[in-house]
Amino acid sequence: MIATGDAVLVLNAGSSSIKFEVFAMDPAPVPRFAGQMEGIGAAPRFTAQDAAGRRLADRRWEAGGAPGDHRAALGVIIDWLDGVLQGRRVAAIGHRVVHGGPELAAPVVVDAAVMDRLRALAPLAPLHQPHNLAGIAAAADRFPGVPQVACFDTAFHRSHAWEADTFALPPEFYDRGIRRYGFHGLSYEYIARSLAQTDPALAAGRVVVAHLGNGASLCAMQGGRSVDSTMGFTALDGVPMGTRCGQIDPGVLLHLMTTEGMDPAAVQALLYGHAGLKGMSGISQDVRDLQASTDPRAARALAHFCWRVRREVGALAAALGGIDALVFTAGIGENAPAIRAAVCDGLGFLGIALDAARNAANAPDIAAAGAATRVLVRPTDEEAMIAHHVLALLQRSENA
Ligand code: ADP
Repeated sequence: MIATGDAVLVLNAGSSSIKFEVFAMDPAPVPRFAGQMEGIGAAPRFTAQDAAGRRLADRRWEAGGAPGDHRAALGVIIDWLDGVLQGRRVAAIGHRVVHGGPELAAPVVVDAAVMDRLRALAPLAPLHQPHNLAGIAAAADRFPGVPQVACFDTAFHRSHAWEADTFALPPEFYDRGIRRYGFHGLSYEYIARSLAQTDPALAAGRVVVAHLGNGASLCAMQGGRSVDSTMGFTALDGVPMGTRCGQIDPGVLLHLMTTEGMDPAAVQALLYGHAGLKGMSGISQDVRDLQASTDPRAARALAHFCWRVRREVGALAAALGGIDALVFTAGIGENAPAIRAAVCDGLGFLGIALDAARNAANAPDIAAAGAATRVLVRPTDEEAMIAHHVLALLQRSENA
């Protein structure tokens, strides 16, 4: 049971980091503290700030020093939280989990059976799922009896039709789980809900959301439900990202492995870590660095990124049979006017035209006066979405 005054802890455990955010139930979730432990297993660093962004902690350890694993890292986070929570009870913990598989279309309270089910999905997301689950196990150890809620990046996309989710392979591959799942679902769900609050008529229509951050994808939504997404079986597909390649002809991978003799581990390292903006530019995965650079490779990388995002806006508009709004969100989408302008340049045939001054100011509504299609800039907040789910799920189960 969650009472007013309690805290809900949201954890996002990755391969070498644990990000956290604490919400106070007052009685709706209000963000209080956030931070992360990065470099787990290498050179750990713990940072934390309050809701106003004031830095409250910054601690580093020697390379190879403790905390050496997720359990120990969570211990550092919890010890720090004990000091700032001033007796507030952690009443529930929400976890970002990358994969809910074909069935899980909503958050669940984790018990032993759910944990087994999530473990069985690990082969579908070997780089993320085991770390997400290590975060749950560590939190359950540290907070025995406190409900742990898993919220899935895939869940929002379970409304897709078969033709959107299948690959053109014999059906047994689909039945074995080899299909398009889509990711960034918590971000899209947050955008869908915030649109429904601010602009219900638009939220009921055909909306393409471009989540452009370090990871990037786009989602086609009709009436607030996901119809299609650029990410597929893994979070590699779709548009280029900070270090990930996005869509690539599978023939390239066959060529690299058979003709050039790359082994699967080398191909994986290339596609996930040495491709995208960083790979193309040879400079950085960060759009700000590329915009500041005079190296022509930086401009070319950004040009390719914008080209591919524009193509996907067109493809998803076709999936929806038209478009009423294009929404930009996440680090690049919210903060990079030049990228938004380059993406929208050429989309006049979809009724998309930008107001240059409003775009430059990152205004919430950046379409030119009289343009047929709205173009919006909206902040996303996956952690707030998780806190909302935790509260809703636990309240529902209390009332059941
Ligand atoms: P993550 O996927 O890690 O959550 P974010 O959504 O925070 O990523 O996006 C981070 C990226 O956003 C950075 O790598 C950078 O490319 C981009 N970004 C952030 N601020 C700006 C800015 N002011 N101008 C251009 N790009 C920005």
